[in-house]
Amino acid sequence: MTESVFPERAGSQTPEHFDVLIVGAGISGIASAYHLADQCPEMRFVVLESQESYGGTWHTHRYPGIRSDSDLYTFGYRFKPWTGAPIATAAEIRSYMGEVIDENGLDRHIRYRHAIHSASWSSQDNLWTLEAKRTDTGETVRFTTHFLWMCQGYFRHSQGYTPEWRSMESFKGQIVHPQTWPEDLAYEGKKVLIIGSGATAATLVPALAGKCAHVTMLQRSPTYFFTGRNANVLANELRQLEIDETWIHEIVRRKILHDQAEFTRRAREEPEVVKQELLAGVRAHLGPEFDIDTHFTPGYRPWRQRIAFIPDADLFQGVRDGKASIVTDEIEQFVETGVELKSGRTLDADIIVTATGFDLSVLGDIAFTIDDKPLNFSDTVTYRGMMFTGVPNLVWVFGYFRASWTLRADLIGDFVCRLLRHMKSKGASRVVPTLRPEDENMTLGSWVDPENFNPGYLMRGMHLLPKRGSKREWQHTQDYWAEKDEFPTIDLDDAVFDYTCELPEMPGGAKPPLA
Ligand SMILES: Cc1cc2nc3c(=O)[nH]c(=O)nc-3n(C[C@H](O)[C@H](O)[C@H](O)COP(=O)(O)OP(=O)(O)OC[C@H]3O[C@@H](n4cnc5c(N)ncnc54)[C@H](O)[C@@H]3O)c2cc1C
Repeated sequence: MTESVFPERAGSQTPEHFDVLIVGAGISGIASAYHLADQCPEMRFVVLESQESYGGTWHTHRYPGIRSDSDLYTFGYRFKPWTGAPIATAAEIRSYMGEVIDENGLDRHIRYRHAIHSASWSSQDNLWTLEAKRTDTGETVRFTTHFLWMCQGYFRHSQGYTPEWRSMESFKGQIVHPQTWPEDLAYEGKKVLIIGSGATAATLVPALAGKCAHVTMLQRSPTYFFTGRNANVLANELRQLEIDETWIHEIVRRKILHDQAEFTRRAREEPEVVKQELLAGVRAHLGPEFDIDTHFTPGYRPWRQRIAFIPDADLFQGVRDGKASIVTDEIEQFVETGVELKSGRTLDADIIVTATGFDLSVLGDIAFTIDDKPLNFSDTVTYRGMMFTGVPNLVWVFGYFRASWTLRADLIGDFVCRLLRHMKSKGASRVVPTLRPEDENMTLGSWVDPENFNPGYLMRGMHLLPKRGSKREWQHTQDYWAEKDEFPTIDLDDAVFDYTCELPEMPGGAKPPLA
């Protein structure tokens, strides 16, 4: 299913028009396409994706062991039961997404190999015009749309983030970033050094341990991990009772979300107790002699960064068996044979893997203009982390970090469909989020509060992101539990939403289908 079955209009000079244009065929873009087809079946829409297939994150990342760190009961869609083990491989997630595409006939709406490079809004026509380059033919194609649904994720897919270390060029081995893992990388029998301490490093270590000569995880500072069986006891019990999978999906989602809410509350109210519980979990696998203080005790409170789940304790098994080791230190410089650390120690390696994160990409590296003026998103204030002041007819799906991303893709899906229907019933061709008089003097801050959540890629790119206001509706609260009740009751006639109701003529004289 890598090719679109949508009729191609190669070479066409007139832009093709759609009521809604979805950018990206990752987990969010497919969710948005599903909700649109389901809730607004009369709308014509297209999904443009720069890669040759769907999946986004799960198509891009191909390093050994690649898997989710959230459970698929909540990372999976609300509308499609997950029937496998909670932690899933990229291949399993893509196969699940493929079923959603097949079962709902979404493939006819998707066009692959379309890399969008510009989006221009015209207030005269109340239309977005997008230009995309077809990566197969090199041709530039144009589209117009009333509504732009941005599902391009948050990181640059073409490359990952690698810091500049001193004398990197002197290393005689191979340097690899997990995001661009060479398919033919021969690591068998080699010494592999992984730089990083996040979920990616924690996935790579067990995947390589035992296959390469030795794998070392070098971290500047430790991360919290929690571990457990890759199984959901409740789901398994319900299956034994032959309960329908749709019910199981809903019940297990509620149970997981209930437990996560409780964990988040405890992490906030009694961080020290939660910290000791997490450390005890690690100690149980590595034994009393292991230096947990140095290697597994972060300096920050639990939950300030995403906590990586280690299914079946596989990371710790490799360490216990001597196939993997953890070093906590800083890199002084690269040397011919590996890296020299600040402590003076040298780590030898044949392959160095820089599991050092992502490059933030705000809105898909697309050059936006509004009435010919370049749009700088950092000059805008976000409406609930999905719309932006002064930016007409555009929604961005930016999910949760402490809960599964997809929960928000589903909530925003409902919101956008409700908004589109509302615009249709009003005859509105434009909606612009606007600060109300009572919001004008509100204190503005960065997209997220660094005290609350501070992963590296966000800290590096914060200056590029829209501003957050001091009031709830001008924030991405990262609070699924509140938003699940708030979003369905958002008053679409609130003064935040500035509608324009003239009905423009469309190219060719057709009536705008949104009106
Ligand atoms: C290794 C890894 C593991 C993760 N695990 C989890 C997890 O377990 N749970 C969780 O909640 N989150 C996880 N995340 C975060 C994850 O990225 C999101 O949860 C989710 O997959 C994002 O989906 P998305 O569709 O919004 O964006 P993406 O997956 O980034 O997909 C965006 C798509 O848009 C396309 N695109 C971008 N710009 C353009 C353009 N200009 N023109 C055309 N197409 C464009 C891209 O090619 C891509 O296919 C993980 C991230 C990584 C990297």
